[in-house]
Amino acid sequence: KKAVNLLEKFTNGEIDVLVGVATYYGVMVRGIDLPERVKYAIFAGIPRHKFSSKLENPSPTDVLRILSIIRDALEGDEKRNIEILIGRLSIRLRRLSQGALMKLKEDFQKKLAGEPVEEYPLLTLLFNALELARKLLSRKDVLENLKKRGDIALVVEDSKSYILIPDTATYIQASGRTSRLYPGGITKGLSIIIVDDPRLLNGLVKRMRWLFEDFEIKALEEIDLEKTIKEINEERTRVKKILRGELEVEKTIELTKSALLIVESPNKARTIANFFGKPSVRLLENGMPVYDVTTGDYVLSIIASIGHVYDLVVDDGIYDYGVRIENGRFIPVYTDIKRCNDCGYQFTAEETRCPKCGSRNISRKLDVINILRDLASEVDIVFIGTDPDTEGEKIGWDLKVLLEPYTRTIKRIEFHEITRKAILNAIRNPRDFNLNLVEAQIVRRVEDRWLGFALSHKVQKYFWPMYCFKVLQPALNRLIRKKKHVEKMPNCCVENRNLSAGRVQTPVLGYIIQKFKEHNDKSKWKYLLVISVNEHRLRVDVDRSIVEQMGIEATDQIIGQKVTIKEKEKYEDTINPPPPFTTDTLLEEASIRLGLSTTRTMEIAQELFELGLITYHRTDSTRVSEAGINIARQYLEEKYGEKAKEVFKPRTWGAGGAHEAIRPTRPIDADRLAELVREGAIILVRPLTRLHYEVYRLIFNRFIASQMIPAKVIKQKVIVKIGDYEKEVERVIKITEKGFLEMYETVYEEPEIKDGEYPIVDVDILKPPLARYHDVIKWMKTQGIGRPSTYAKIIQTLIDRRYVDVTKKVKALIPTRRGIMVYEDFLTKYFKEVVSVEVTRKLEEKMKEIEEGKRNYQDVLKEIFRELQEKVIENPVINKQLEELWNEYCGGMKKYW
Ligand SMILES: [Zn+2]
Repeated sequence: KKAVNLLEKFTNGEIDVLVGVATYYGVMVRGIDLPERVKYAIFAGIPRHKFSSKLENPSPTDVLRILSIIRDALEGDEKRNIEILIGRLSIRLRRLSQGALMKLKEDFQKKLAGEPVEEYPLLTLLFNALELARKLLSRKDVLENLKKRGDIALVVEDSKSYILIPDTATYIQASGRTSRLYPGGITKGLSIIIVDDPRLLNGLVKRMRWLFEDFEIKALEEIDLEKTIKEINEERTRVKKILRGELEVEKTIELTKSALLIVESPNKARTIANFFGKPSVRLLENGMPVYDVTTGDYVLSIIASIGHVYDLVVDDGIYDYGVRIENGRFIPVYTDIKRCNDCGYQFTAEETRCPKCGSRNISRKLDVINILRDLASEVDIVFIGTDPDTEGEKIGWDLKVLLEPYTRTIKRIEFHEITRKAILNAIRNPRDFNLNLVEAQIVRRVEDRWLGFALSHKVQKYFWPMYCFKVLQPALNRLIRKKKHVEKMPNCCVENRNLSAGRVQTPVLGYIIQKFKEHNDKSKWKYLLVISVNEHRLRVDVDRSIVEQMGIEATDQIIGQKVTIKEKEKYEDTINPPPPFTTDTLLEEASIRLGLSTTRTMEIAQELFELGLITYHRTDSTRVSEAGINIARQYLEEKYGEKAKEVFKPRTWGAGGAHEAIRPTRPIDADRLAELVREGAIILVRPLTRLHYEVYRLIFNRFIASQMIPAKVIKQKVIVKIGDYEKEVERVIKITEKGFLEMYETVYEEPEIKDGEYPIVDVDILKPPLARYHDVIKWMKTQGIGRPSTYAKIIQTLIDRRYVDVTKKVKALIPTRRGIMVYEDFLTKYFKEVVSVEVTRKLEEKMKEIEEGKRNYQDVLKEIFRELQEKVIENPVINKQLEELWNEYCGGMKKYW
């Protein structure tokens, strides 16, 4: 009540200065929103968390915070163990509701005071963690390490020692009071820190830079204090007048223009909005949120269009494929997308009911467009900030076309990472639309539609009877004989609309089938001999013929046989770090190291991008910008201190252009990120899962490694002699300088082998591996099929069509019978020239040429159209063969269509 009284007096001018203790949830810091009154924030000392090193009375979050600090003072196993503990504790604390957290706090206090309290696992864990922290803090080496840190402070007061940690949340909240939004813009404020401890200042600046990459503080003598104070006072007078209604807003802010920024995803919109203080949110009539912020240059409204707004129609032009031909020109016909809110089906037909489930609960993009038109008509300029690739350019172009009549200026802005700096930079340097990219996207879409529809039609009509009679019916009959329930016998002679086929997926299906066949081809199998070398197991693969030459028939006879191993040479070698990730290498490594499907990896990467944590993830460039190199420098300096110079080796990798490799946007590793999110220092617009952190860790570590010195290793080359057969085996036996391997392991140490005779203790059959996600991606890349935006989609399409299955354990991709049959007995038999690797690659090249402005998109459409007619739709030879095929199965029956 007293506080409320004081605040009233402050608001009406009876009091000019408020003094209080700054805690980031306190009234002094959070509760005041008075742009006309608050001008300065003065911090008497650096805002900090303070712990007695005996940790008498900490809260649960204090325990976590102090553990995180102690972690950095430890090494090896101790460090790892405490990391695990922090992880367990933080996950559990995060899961608690507000009420449960309160109860935990109370119980914890009671337990600390020695009062009786009912034990439960989290309370015990927390208490043990505190005990551990106390124990570690009493250790001399730990305290010494903490003292060496330049960003926290250990102090002694009244013969008690304390640890001080800078508190960014309080600094942001309190200094933010001086700079508030008002109807005419954002107030200028001055925030002064009286430095009582340079280490804490250093720590505060460092932590602030984790959050705002361009954060800066200045020494007081560097600024013109008188001028600043004058500006602030004049502005406050104006603010007061505006708030009292004595001054019209428009007249006061001629310099500040209004702008609308349209992006495609809600996450992206919220992330951008959060860069500019706490945005005010308006909910539009259909529930869409608009975020209003001030950037300094603009009063900016941010909204999401939610993906594409337009797609090809289905019922217009040639063969119902969505393209008109007029005077030799191809005119794709687009309309707004409709979406069924009940089943999620998307369509373009003008229906009032969902074509799939019949629901009338349909939302259409036209409604979104109308809202955007209203918003656009109220602002000076519209910025389109869709993703920086052909898809993003097309979405942006559609929006431009739709909004143009309703607003004065529409500009495209391009950014490859979502940071405050990148967004401001993009807004200050808008560009025009790149029609080449738009045309390339149109060709890709039309090609996909044309060939997809044409091939799918053939598959539905002619492949289905063959598959149905040869595979499906016999299988169902077997079930019936076993008295199993069978829903319904399919009609093999009525075309099956659930089947489909497309161009780009087909060669990939072929590759998966090829790997599957090799896997099962006994002539390709090898033996994997397991040789016992002291404690260690050496695995050597040999051709089967070698073993057969030894006169051994059954594999178990080989167990117990001896091999001779002799060293050939030992030498030092240098191993260079791999480049930072591009889309294909990220998909590969996420599959190998995390077992993730390509679709899942892309989803996670998309979210990390939209949350502002990584650069754009659809890229085939390995280039690292100046900003990227700085991030690596800052991170390594923090991690290695003085030693950073010795391990840092900046590299730009790929050549110029706007695109960049996939890299983090801040010098914060996965553990630190988790910590900052937990503390609430970094606020993300959606929570991260364990997998998000794992993918982020992969991207971060690989990137930092790419900016580090090579590793030095010693390799041993030995000759393994089995009977008369000799095989060379090379292994790394010592890592003499870890270099980049500290961040990203690509080789491991194996024990040195001494010359001698060693027994074979086991033997396995080594089959050529089945295709896994990473093999397929790598193959596509080397064959020139697919692009960063399509890799994941191509594989997913094959899975969705049930041409390919994913095994549960190893996540190998294996073809189904349907997949093998449609590929071998149908697509490559009748449409070989259309779905070959060659043709697919050439098409990809043509798209690239359109993007670069080297080819006219109408010419390419003409070529594709001719190919479609000659080879798929109106080829008399093929059509005759297909009719014969149909007759073979269904000829004797009445035609149903
Ligand atoms: Zn539906």
